[in-house]
Amino acid sequence: MEIAGFTPFSTIDYEGFLSTVIYTQGCNWNCIFCHNYHLIPRKKGNFSLEDTINFIEKRKTLIDGIVISGGEPTLHNDLLEFCKEVKKLKLLIKLDTNGTNPNLLNSLIQERLIDYIAMDIKAPFEKYKKIIRAKFSVEKIKKSIKIVKTIPHEFRTTVHSALLNFKDLENVLQIVGKTSKYYIQLANPTERYDVPNQYTKDSLKEFIKKYNEFSIKIRA
Ligand code: SF4
Repeated sequence: MEIAGFTPFSTIDYEGFLSTVIYTQGCNWNCIFCHNYHLIPRKKGNFSLEDTINFIEKRKTLIDGIVISGGEPTLHNDLLEFCKEVKKLKLLIKLDTNGTNPNLLNSLIQERLIDYIAMDIKAPFEKYKKIIRAKFSVEKIKKSIKIVKTIPHEFRTTVHSALLNFKDLENVLQIVGKTSKYYIQLANPTERYDVPNQYTKDSLKEFIKKYNEFSIKIRA
């Protein structure tokens, strides 16, 4: 696994728990509004696996768990071994993923190594390519969604008015379903994409009012 860095203590990345966040280096996608775009290149990380485990071990009595984020953590085949090491420390594990590797997600769940998954649903499937700007498999994403729904989870979509309209969000809701937690977050301008976002928290709140039967929240 290539580890780019850590946030030693976070109260916001794993709801209800104090966590250490691990950022893996490398992503197979190139989302227009990616906030961690320095983590996209698939290159060597700054920390070894051993350094990372030592770092976590030193904090194990101060935190409830870890968040594995990126980049895309499931690109790393040794993610499973890493999770096994973390589980030996009796910590919870939350995984952030773009859903690109259903087989690894399945193995992690089968081996009871993951406690919570947050998966991005970038758009209705026909609009994915416009946002992620990379090759992808709709079938794999669908498979991941099905797998993620078998353990505690959330789905989330980052919205920008120039990329997704409310009809698109309605279509994403049909993918998410009524029993999953769903977070909508505003895309903020980055150096790579500074087009103003016409959506505001209020306009999104207005939109979600119509969908009481879904479990939707706006995330800052
Ligand atoms: S999947 Fe996530 S890390 Fe990868 S490019 Fe998109 S936003 Fe960035």
